[in-house]
Amino acid sequence: MFELKVTNRFAAAHNLREFYGRCEDLHGHNWFVEARVRAEELDKTGLVMDFGVIKKILHEVLDLLDHKYLNELEYFKTDNPSSENIAVLIFQEMAPRITEASEGRVRLHSVSAWENESSCATYADGQA
Ligand SMILES: [Zn+2]
Repeated sequence: MFELKVTNRFAAAHNLREFYGRCEDLHGHNWFVEARVRAEELDKTGLVMDFGVIKKILHEVLDLLDHKYLNELEYFKTDNPSSENIAVLIFQEMAPRITEASEGRVRLHSVSAWENESSCATYADGQA
């Protein structure tokens, strides 16, 4: 099994409803995002997938979030824009694009959202 990882960043504001702590009031983070894709076999050029294609897909998805007030996005009207739920959203947006771009050979394995250098939330598919 092979795995590739690409990273990118986005900046956004949020506040967490029904949370009593540092994230209760409106503030921003510079999220650092890691996306991992996996494939059982390489393609005929010896690649899991072109890094550039994965980066482009991640960039397109992060564009949906960059410089936004996350609480106002439709996706976060009910679910809090926690790093956990941000990882889920990025995963759900990326997964079909990775599948399509690789014609089903490569799958998105996980998305990690670091809200600072010591705190990271990861959402992963259920497979090993
Ligand atoms: Zn926060």
